[in-house]
Amino acid sequence: MSMFKDIPVEVGVIYEGERIRRNDMQVELGGPTVKQKFELAKVKPMDEVEDGKITIVGPDLKDLKEGGAYPFGILVEAAGAKLDAGLEGVIERRIHGYLNYIEGFMHLNQRYDIWMRLGKKSFAKGLNSFEPIGKVLYRLFKSELPIIEKIQITFITDTAKLAEMTPEAMQAYESRDAKARGLKDSEVDTFYGCVLCQSFAPSHVCVITPQRYSNCGAISWFDGKASASIDPKGPVFAIPRGEIINEEKGEFSGVNEAAKKRTMGEVNQVWLYTAFDHPHTSCGCFEAVAFYIPEVDGLGVVQRSFKGAAVNGLPFSTLADSTAGGRQIDGFHGMSIEYMRSQKFFAADGGWNRIVWVPKEVKERVKEFIPRDVVDKIATEEDAKNVDELKAFLKAKNHPVVARWEAEAAPVAEAQAVQVTEEQAATTMMPVATAASLPIMAGGFKIILKDAKIYASKVIIQAKTDEKR
Ligand code: SF4
Repeated sequence: MSMFKDIPVEVGVIYEGERIRRNDMQVELGGPTVKQKFELAKVKPMDEVEDGKITIVGPDLKDLKEGGAYPFGILVEAAGAKLDAGLEGVIERRIHGYLNYIEGFMHLNQRYDIWMRLGKKSFAKGLNSFEPIGKVLYRLFKSELPIIEKIQITFITDTAKLAEMTPEAMQAYESRDAKARGLKDSEVDTFYGCVLCQSFAPSHVCVITPQRYSNCGAISWFDGKASASIDPKGPVFAIPRGEIINEEKGEFSGVNEAAKKRTMGEVNQVWLYTAFDHPHTSCGCFEAVAFYIPEVDGLGVVQRSFKGAAVNGLPFSTLADSTAGGRQIDGFHGMSIEYMRSQKFFAADGGWNRIVWVPKEVKERVKEFIPRDVVDKIATEEDAKNVDELKAFLKAKNHPVVARWEAEAAPVAEAQAVQVTEEQAATTMMPVATAASLPIMAGGFKIILKDAKIYASKVIIQAKTDEKR
């Protein structure tokens, strides 16, 4: 049953996680084909907010052509005696959850990356204006966050207004992120967790620390702190850091306990500063994905908005599917762009010295945080379009990973070759490896062979002089 009698469709938590496919969509708002898009929350003085006011700037839903994708913005302006600008990120992130309660309405991602779809069935039921959508947002904000005393909501489809407001939104995100920089994980005893994405990724918990922004890039440690204090029963909660189990990898007893509890035992161990072995889980709305490139023993990063294939030949969507859903996939890592500005950015894997390929747009955005001695050694799509070109580029620039190749190649002289004669092979072919579960990394994919028995006519045993990870 719907929460609200005057809204033409149902509204409730059961609609969270609902996906709307292209064929079923009435319209798309924002999304990958549209440049102008944002959602922004601002805290305003009491006299600048008219409680319950809903404004539509530009064509309304019923005026948008069926099947089209449109530039889109949502501005939420809130006021309250106890509200301050530090809560803007918290308020803004709630838009995602509340819109997903609406039957036949899908909201993905955040900030300048929003992607929404309205389904045809809900449109036919009468959800043909932003007005009822605004009413749902208004009522949920007021009931779930009583600290908000007044709230007004503006929907924008007018391209001139969007062009005017987009720089303001980008500036607001940057100043929020900048405020959160500087504090170190070692300086606090509480981290924060978020399970807002469990509707899409049931075994996902974001662990938000001062030096590891949330995967969506929308919640900093300060936002987490503010959210947990104003709504302790909400999706964001405090995680006592606990004992440091492994400082280099970023393993903390409190994080492991929280992950175990919140994922019903699905995830028991999380390493915060690495993409390998027990990486942080990946939900579905991460801003970028890091991927291991075995041919060069380095990590690439590609952002959601990147068009075309990454250097390993796979587009963002395929890479994202390889890691999303709340899983921990060795060598893959859903993450925020802001994490790239952190000193803990894959610190256990070598940090920036292990990053080999990043699209130009992202590299420009985080350039000042890349150590000077490596910045020109990291390839973009302009330097390398495939792994062969990447290898040549890294070698020419003497990227730090090249030393790793040399270290790994050196012991070949010590390698022993075990030659199995044809006769032996024919008569006594025994498996050279057996395993209940044997993982293999290849071409950016992890292949798991179950109950594997591997036969080979030749086995090279090569001593390792350097830890690969
Ligand atoms: S990505 Fe993480 S922090 Fe962001 S909404 Fe999802 S669970 Fe919360």
